[in-house]
Amino acid sequence: MSRVTRATINLAALKHNLAVVKQAAPLQKIMAVVKADAYGHGIARVAQALAEVLTEQDAFAVASIDEAVMLRAVGIKNSIVVLQGFNSSADLALIQQHDISVVIHHISQVILLELQAEQANNIKCWLKIDTGMHRLGFAPDDVKKMYQRLLNTGVDTEIGLMTHLANADDLHSTKSDAQIELFNQIVSGNPAETSLANSAAILGWPAAHGHWVRPGIMLYGVNPFVYSTEGETNKLTTTLQPVMTLSATLIAVNKISKDETIGYGSTWQCPEDMLVGVVSIGYGDGYPRHAPSGTPVLVNGKRVALIGRVSMDMIMVDLREQADAKVGDEVILWGDGLPVEEIAAAAGTIGYELLCGVTRRVAFEYKDDE
Ligand SMILES: *Cc1c(COP(=O)(O)O)cnc(C)c1O
Repeated sequence: MSRVTRATINLAALKHNLAVVKQAAPLQKIMAVVKADAYGHGIARVAQALAEVLTEQDAFAVASIDEAVMLRAVGIKNSIVVLQGFNSSADLALIQQHDISVVIHHISQVILLELQAEQANNIKCWLKIDTGMHRLGFAPDDVKKMYQRLLNTGVDTEIGLMTHLANADDLHSTKSDAQIELFNQIVSGNPAETSLANSAAILGWPAAHGHWVRPGIMLYGVNPFVYSTEGETNKLTTTLQPVMTLSATLIAVNKISKDETIGYGSTWQCPEDMLVGVVSIGYGDGYPRHAPSGTPVLVNGKRVALIGRVSMDMIMVDLREQADAKVGDEVILWGDGLPVEEIAAAAGTIGYELLCGVTRRVAFEYKDDE
């Protein structure tokens, strides 16, 4: 029997989630964020599916020039914005060749454009303003000067203005309001297009919608807000549909006696004679090694608990409530019926990291029906 460990990517759900973006921000243009191999879902298939439902005015956003070139290679015609911009003259040649838009966030990039006037010609730019995240962007006091310097290099004159919010995922924080207000002050009087909102801001901070929204995680069906068991949310997050379902199979069902222990380190002890299932997935597939005993797993659609340590190729599960489970039965680790947010919270991380971390050993299957 060959190992069946699979990520099923539901492109219909992806398109549905894009419709949720449009519902939340109906007047805005969309920059669909497909960095990091579309959050681990496969950039080519994801971008092609989104391109079917985006308008010609909408765009894609990626982190690197390489990712932008990859999108052109698979036939994407929309604008592509590189969120980290460029850092070499070779990058500028690719930007020209493939008609790539860039975020300018650092003076070194402006200097490079000044030195390479020919390559600067007509490049489409976004100027990034640091309103408090302190990751990328120009300080508020430098924006006017940098905007003018950038304009003088000969880039396309329609330079957009953007910023990024550090706490949009926390609906109780006052920091987003402060960042939005500072941004509005800086850009007031400039007719340029604006962009501030990631997924959490699209759903939680309408004042941040600007002209362009930048949805990432919500496209993949994950609630962007800080995880809480009360399900802190917004009525739109409940309509998001998970795009990736990670599944495997039961490869053994064993009777283990009371007081025996399970797996490496013998961290879990059987309270009674019981059935223990072995599932064909482990940290070598991207299932988080830090998921503790008790983390939920679906066997034949019903919740059971992970028991013992996650190993490279396998996990064990408590089958006391699943007397009929047998070798070959389907096991879902996250996705349909089991939110990745819940697994991430159990493992001390966020859904983004789990989705990005699925490894090449896992078979990816794309479906686009329903
Ligand atoms: C990744 C990223 C986004 C998308 O964020 P989500 O939380 O996934 O919606 C938006 N803007 C910038 C600048 C980013 O780096």
